Amino acid sequence: MKAVIIGSGIGGMATAIRLASLGFETEVFEQNSFYGGKINSKQIGAYRFDRGPSVFTEPHLIDELLGLDSNNDDEFSYVKLPISCCYFFEDGTRVALPTGSKAVADVLSEELGEDKKNIYSCLKALERNYNAVYPVFIKVSLHRIGHWLNRNILRAIKRIPFYGLFHTMNRVNSKTFKNNKTVQIFNRFATYNGSDPFKSPGMFNIIAHLELNIGPFMPKGGMVAISDSVYKKAVDMGVRFHFDTRIEEICYNDGKVSGIKHSGGVVECELVTSNMDVHFTYEKLLPNLKSPLKILSQEKSSSAIVFYWGIRKSFDSLDVHNIFFSEAYEEEFNHLFVKKSLIEDPTVYIHISSKIEKSDAPDGCENWFVMVNAPIDSGQDWTAQKDNLRTNVIKKLSGILKEDIAPLIEIEEQLDPAMMERMYSGKNGSIYGNASNSTLASFYRHPNFSRHLYGLYFAGVTVHPGGGIPLALNSAAIVERCVRKDFSIGQ
Ligand SMILES: Cc1cc2nc3c(=O)[nH]c(=O)nc-3n(C[C@H](O)[C@H](O)[C@H](O)COP(=O)(O)OP(=O)(O)OC[C@H]3O[C@@H](n4cnc5c(N)ncnc54)[C@H](O)[C@@H]3O)c2cc1C
Repeated sequence: MKAVIIGSGIGGMATAIRLASLGFETEVFEQNSFYGGKINSKQIGAYRFDRGPSVFTEPHLIDELLGLDSNNDDEFSYVKLPISCCYFFEDGTRVALPTGSKAVADVLSEELGEDKKNIYSCLKALERNYNAVYPVFIKVSLHRIGHWLNRNILRAIKRIPFYGLFHTMNRVNSKTFKNNKTVQIFNRFATYNGSDPFKSPGMFNIIAHLELNIGPFMPKGGMVAISDSVYKKAVDMGVRFHFDTRIEEICYNDGKVSGIKHSGGVVECELVTSNMDVHFTYEKLLPNLKSPLKILSQEKSSSAIVFYWGIRKSFDSLDVHNIFFSEAYEEEFNHLFVKKSLIEDPTVYIHISSKIEKSDAPDGCENWFVMVNAPIDSGQDWTAQKDNLRTNVIKKLSGILKEDIAPLIEIEEQLDPAMMERMYSGKNGSIYGNASNSTLASFYRHPNFSRHLYGLYFAGVTVHPGGGIPLALNSAAIVERCVRKDFSIGQ
């Protein structure tokens, strides 16, 4: 039997590997000339940049996909970062947060006056929440009772009072911590799926567990090594890739998928997995099929503006991941989701892979990936927005780092929400599909399969279980499980 995957993002390539291993003749069609979707890199002059994701958690999911036993394989390896992120505040406070609950508690107590025991027990509770939720929400399809109705459900139900389902992340964190700076640090994890901590449920504090208790990792060779090794594994397994080929239609007959259409012709197949934004899958590829309007019309996750700067200097005060917080954090989210504009004092994230991968920048220089969360594209003048933002970001960084940044920028490229929609076909440039700005929205994502067309599946961050590389990988595993059942393929 033949399977077609639309899109070579991490969710698409992971699904391709899984379907090939089930014996499907598998082909991936990608509209761009490169694989990996948002996980791609670019050399600009003497500097190399990862253009999309920079925070890598749960690397064991890649190990499992590639069939690697441990993290010391030549094909794919990674290091654990000793500092998860360096936080900078306008009043000059700098907090370099280590990883591990005890170390985090020590630093937050010393630097921000938090109660050590309280931080420790909060992080441990987040770990228990994560472990309870993972097997019944993240690892399985919520839309197939056989997936989540197992003995793990009892453990998950028992912990419901501890998730903070009915309060916002900000409310939970404001009640838990003494210092507003700690609240801001924990609130920030809502942005990992493009949401607003002043609206999304406290349950999303579990994201902090992955970064603070376990820690972020860095693949050898940069984030693009993830795409490279997954692509190589797929090719080794016989998956065929077609680049510069945009799929224009999913064909079906009698409620069953029958193939796909692209400008060069039709490819017949029994199974299609769409890794493209679920919104556009319905709008562009299935215009005559009844689309799930309620899901598709939900508020979208945020987008971003990225400045890729080659900086002719090295900064000792900066680490691999750095955040420069806005003083008006709540208003910043109001700008993102309600006013659809950028605030004058934005939160700025800087990722510097050359801190570890020395060849990513010339000696004594650094490759700065400077990202600011942005509203989705609703026709804003992005050239004007980026000019204004660039001025504000340089002012903010120069003030806190006590050095004029502008003359240090040797090379530059930019990315904005409209460009993001063009490059990756994410609805309005949103990065993660629907936002999780309410309890309902968090659980109510599109299933990983179609209820109307036999043989149609969905993998990637715009469907269940949600945004980020680990969840895209989980979506592929869920597709495999659904396919096994639907096509009666044994374990
Ligand atoms: C700036 C930025 C920063 C991020 N930071 C992080 C981070 O630190 N950590 C993290 O975990 N995640 C991060 N993310 C999100 C992360 O990139 C995504 O979670 C993940 O890479 C998305 O994978 P995906 O499988 O959903 O597909 P995508 O990467 O979105 O790929 C979808 C693919 O489908 C292709 N396609 C679309 N339509 C068609 C069509 N009609 N025909 C053929 N091909 C088509 C697209 O070209 C694309 O290649 C970030 C994203 C961005 C943009």
